[in-house]
Amino acid sequence: MGRFPFDSGSKYNKIQGFTHKEMGSNGDNGMRKVIAGFAVGVLILMCSTSAKGYQNFKAAIYAPARDVNQMGDANWLASRWDEITRQVKVDKIYLETYRSELLVDEKTVLAAKKFFESKGVKVAGGITYTIKESFPFQTFCYTTPEQRKKAKEITEYTARLFDEIILDDFFFTNCKCETCIKAKGDKSWSEFRIDLMKGAARSLVVGPAKAVNPKVKMVIKYPNWYEHFQGCGFNLEAQPKIFDGIYTGTETRDPVYSDQHLQQYEGYLIYRYFENIKPGGNGGGWVDTFGVRYMDRYAEQLWLTLFAKAPEITLFNFSLMLRPIPQEYRAQWQGSFDFNEMMQPIKLADGKTVAPSSMARPAGYSLEMVDKFLGKLGNPVGVKSYKPYHSVGEDFLQNYIGMCGIPMDLSPEFPAEANVIFLTESAKFDKTIVAKIKKQLVDGKTVVITSGLYKAMQGQPFDWFDDAHHRQAQGGGIEDIVELRIGDEKARTKQFQRRWGPVYESKQEIIIPQIKYLTNDSSEEIFCLAGSNGYPILHSTDYANGKLYILTIPDNYGDLYNLPAEVLTQIRAVLAKEMYVRLDGPAQVAMFVYDNDTFIVESFRDEPVDVKIVADMRISKLSDILTAEELFGEAASTQPRRLGQPEPAPDKTVFKMTIKPHSFRVFKGKQP
Ligand SMILES: [Zn+2]
Repeated sequence: MGRFPFDSGSKYNKIQGFTHKEMGSNGDNGMRKVIAGFAVGVLILMCSTSAKGYQNFKAAIYAPARDVNQMGDANWLASRWDEITRQVKVDKIYLETYRSELLVDEKTVLAAKKFFESKGVKVAGGITYTIKESFPFQTFCYTTPEQRKKAKEITEYTARLFDEIILDDFFFTNCKCETCIKAKGDKSWSEFRIDLMKGAARSLVVGPAKAVNPKVKMVIKYPNWYEHFQGCGFNLEAQPKIFDGIYTGTETRDPVYSDQHLQQYEGYLIYRYFENIKPGGNGGGWVDTFGVRYMDRYAEQLWLTLFAKAPEITLFNFSLMLRPIPQEYRAQWQGSFDFNEMMQPIKLADGKTVAPSSMARPAGYSLEMVDKFLGKLGNPVGVKSYKPYHSVGEDFLQNYIGMCGIPMDLSPEFPAEANVIFLTESAKFDKTIVAKIKKQLVDGKTVVITSGLYKAMQGQPFDWFDDAHHRQAQGGGIEDIVELRIGDEKARTKQFQRRWGPVYESKQEIIIPQIKYLTNDSSEEIFCLAGSNGYPILHSTDYANGKLYILTIPDNYGDLYNLPAEVLTQIRAVLAKEMYVRLDGPAQVAMFVYDNDTFIVESFRDEPVDVKIVADMRISKLSDILTAEELFGEAASTQPRRLGQPEPAPDKTVFKMTIKPHSFRVFKGKQP
């Protein structure tokens, strides 16, 4: 779940519209309020239905230790379970045994387990290795013997009770006690901690669990801050091999008003990235109810997880699913998430109807909506990008590119087979990156790098030593491909131009790094106008049989969204040239593309937006999977018309459409 607010002084309280007490971190006031809000008599009449689950995924609920701790009371549990399952279908429950010094006693855990098994619900265990989870978090210290012993005991206790255990977000360490400082020695904190937590995964979690229960399946759930994992010891290189499965925190909350500022697209990208780390081993995505200002944002997180083809979605958490539906979450617009429709009475399997009463309903409503079509989608495809293990640089940038309508597919291995590769600054952590780029270009492929990667690599014609301590020559560094200079000089601009084309304006001025180049050695494909000057936005050079592009990234990545639609469309034409559909329109509209001619266009904008879909010529019409509406396209040329030359022949089919605020449309491309 990444960072979330349990402290009363947090700005979140205002954003979320409820105080920490209602979230159940301090007593359970919120719960009492919920229960007071509906008649107990209704509960007895409306037995929970044993309705079949969703067709295309499993839904799970995570019950933290403080919820499980109350589950020894059968009446307490039965009434709440009924309320949840009237509103959302649930296949599985995670019962947490430990969190923040609360260890649930065995009798209570077993009573809860028995209850859920009697309902035909799959049961698994959960552990959160925290000492204190109010912000700032206090994790375990993995260098002091007493804390290591405690962690091991929690594992063994839980493994005796369950055949599957998931670790919630906190199997990392931020401890800087004197013992940890001494143990770190001359290493960086990142180096020290990724080793420390690799060892802890083996000796305190997976090893001890298998020793007491050889058939236990151990799953580690990773939170949403993947770019920074190494800093606190989450080891994406080693741990996914140690654990039987991994799981993905797909919650991103509000991109502006929540403190991590994660972009919406990450809900999709992070699932795909982790799937690429452990193919077939990523068990699902996980979304909480925190940090949103309107209900659409909550729904979007669930949808994006499932658009990424997660086989399971976990709803965090049991008590939050019982929180009354906040009416202030009704947005000014009505998009794919229709608040009024969501509030309609629910028809139960026995024919009775019941009114939505808690957050379980927005969850259920959102899941039902996408379950209708997920089975029609093929495998997700996107533009390959590469993030070496434990790398950092231009943090989370691929998500901003995704928000610009370019489908992204992030991988921990260099995707040499791809015809187009997008590399950000984090690629500098690969000591052979220049040689790899050269190889792609010699092979006739396209490589797009950011201004940030070039800047980080310039002036480094270094050699390096491989694992066998053999000296390897990197050659002349990145300058061996093209000689640019990117320093600390900036330019302010709001006008953009493609070579000899019209000038396009952004709504706001943006600040970009100045790329300096040697005339006629490389050239400006798109540039900005800045006073009486100009600088590259998309720059290119030929090398051997391929082409290298350098994409200028604004100082504030969010300013990518301010680039004019026409400029974004040109960037998409390079980056997404291999995709059979591309977007033509402004940013904050994303594309999710699948390998069977199906795709989703989703807008995260607060107002309706007109976009065009540029498809390969073989696709002549689009069928809207949700409405059965058919859209007919027009043949068009995407090639620039040269002076004195006739209009180039059509090479694409263009479809026009409007997307409502915070809405998606799902299409199937059809041939004539
Ligand atoms: Zn310590």
